[in-house]
Amino acid sequence: MILSNKVALITGAARGIGKEIALTLAKEGADIAICDVNEEALAQAKSEIESGGRQCLTASVDVSDTKAAEEMANKTLDKFGKIDILVNNAGITRDGLLMRMKEEDWDAVLSVNLKGAFNFTKAVSRGMIKQRSGNIVNIASIIGIMGNAGQANYSASKAGMIGLTKSAAKELAQRGIRVNAIAPGFIKTPMTEKLTDEQTEMMLKLIPLAKLGEPADVAKLVLFLVSDASSYITGEVIKIDGGMVM
Ligand code: NAP
Repeated sequence: MILSNKVALITGAARGIGKEIALTLAKEGADIAICDVNEEALAQAKSEIESGGRQCLTASVDVSDTKAAEEMANKTLDKFGKIDILVNNAGITRDGLLMRMKEEDWDAVLSVNLKGAFNFTKAVSRGMIKQRSGNIVNIASIIGIMGNAGQANYSASKAGMIGLTKSAAKELAQRGIRVNAIAPGFIKTPMTEKLTDEQTEMMLKLIPLAKLGEPADVAKLVLFLVSDASSYITGEVIKIDGGMVM
């Protein structure tokens, strides 16, 4: 197991990609702290992680709440003594054309996706700096690279995460902390279940590998980025999209 004695904190991990990341890191020996706003699904994720033999701390946290993010980091430190890995995964969409986009939909997406990643990065970095090691992975999106009509808020938030990744990577490298981003294309989760059959068909035509990705595809890439196999990679943005954006 390549993550024995490691502790990983994953946000938005009650379902979808975040849950798969948590299960994958736990299978490799990491103890896990997860937070989400979906308490019922959080309890289910905890029991799946613990049935694999790892410890799991859960907390109902809205990642855009700075104080709650600090409390979650402190709770994790109290329980496990350290945080080796942070995965900023929590994310939402509130789609709409720019001219009709409501201010509250802009604010909600920027607050959860971008401010949430800032909150948790700040909350865990003090401990990582002290221990002179750490690994942070931000789950961005190809939409943050290519843009998308109807997703100005989401695209801006994910482009912001990419900027956050590169700045944090430069600030923290000297302290032994690596920071990278993953930009998934279309992955089968409750988030993409919202798409109509017609929209999915259209997307498939743009994907050379002609299928949607699985949460496990993203989780395996996270595992690579938080392992020593990627020890010379930092500040990178890795696309995982079946070849959609080249
Ligand atoms: P998902 O199925 O909607 O899961 C996201 C989880 O985050 C849900 O459990 C959700 O709770 C939780 N969450 C929402 N707002 C939160 C908040 N304020 N604080 C804490 N947790 C919160 O989404 P997913 O598809 O797994 O996506 C995970 C990440 O990958 C997101 O950042 C997304 O933008 C990114 N991504 C996904 C795709 C894709 O195709 N699926 C592609 C590119 C990037 P609720 O269930 O209560 O909403």
